Amino acid sequence: MKEHLKKFLKKFKLYHPLQAFYRGVIAFASNNYYKLLYSRYKGKGFSCNFCGATYQKFVPEFPSSETSGAIGINEVIAGYGENVYCPNCLSKNRERLVLAVIQNMLSIEHKTILHFSPEKHLYNYLKSKTVVTTVDLEPGFYRNIDSAISYANATNLRFNNESFDMIIANHVLEHIPDDAKAMNEMYRVLKTGGTAILQVPYSERLPTTIEEPFIRDPKKQERLFGQKDHVRIYSLSDYTKRLKTAGFQVNVLSPQKLEQFKVNGIQENESVILCYK
Ligand SMILES: [Zn+2]
Repeated sequence: MKEHLKKFLKKFKLYHPLQAFYRGVIAFASNNYYKLLYSRYKGKGFSCNFCGATYQKFVPEFPSSETSGAIGINEVIAGYGENVYCPNCLSKNRERLVLAVIQNMLSIEHKTILHFSPEKHLYNYLKSKTVVTTVDLEPGFYRNIDSAISYANATNLRFNNESFDMIIANHVLEHIPDDAKAMNEMYRVLKTGGTAILQVPYSERLPTTIEEPFIRDPKKQERLFGQKDHVRIYSLSDYTKRLKTAGFQVNVLSPQKLEQFKVNGIQENESVILCYK
């Protein structure tokens, strides 16, 4: 039934707008719920670098029983933990981490940015500072964040060589079957001297990446890779190797180097993967 409804909505181009609408309603409701629930935790501890709110703790998120196996066994740094969402604005730890790095370690003034699958808070910040082009394989899903978002297949980008000063693809590559091709394309459209922030869930425990690039079995994907639309779990060392093969110079900012951002409720033990051309 669900599949029929999906097909019907897709046929009339209503699927993504409806999904975006429902996501908006859920976000609005959860936002008010958490604002109320966490009002008693207002105070010192964590500070949101998007909205400035300070709390003793943020909202936790843990993997479901279907996904916890893959994440636990492989020790995947996947965004879960005790302090994930800001109770005041619902920004996520992965957005706050990228923002902290951009604000403190990089400069985006007058730079052109290509933002894949844009996250709401991060996109709004970038847009307030400079020119941002947003893209996704399913742009309808993100229309509520940027109405000008356009379709793009990361493995075949329509942009000219050397088009952007910065690329942000935050948790995108683990969804793409031919990630080597996507990395090549990202490298091609990045300007020489440009920077790409290409965060993915990864494991430092795995010696090699585990993947089934052409799998189309959400249940199995949850079980194997920790999310129903992921096609791999990267080994960190293999991930950086793949990026280097595409041409990037890679700088892994270790959690020690990111210590100063802990106050923003970033994920424990996550490294930031900065790629340069
Ligand atoms: Zn916030």
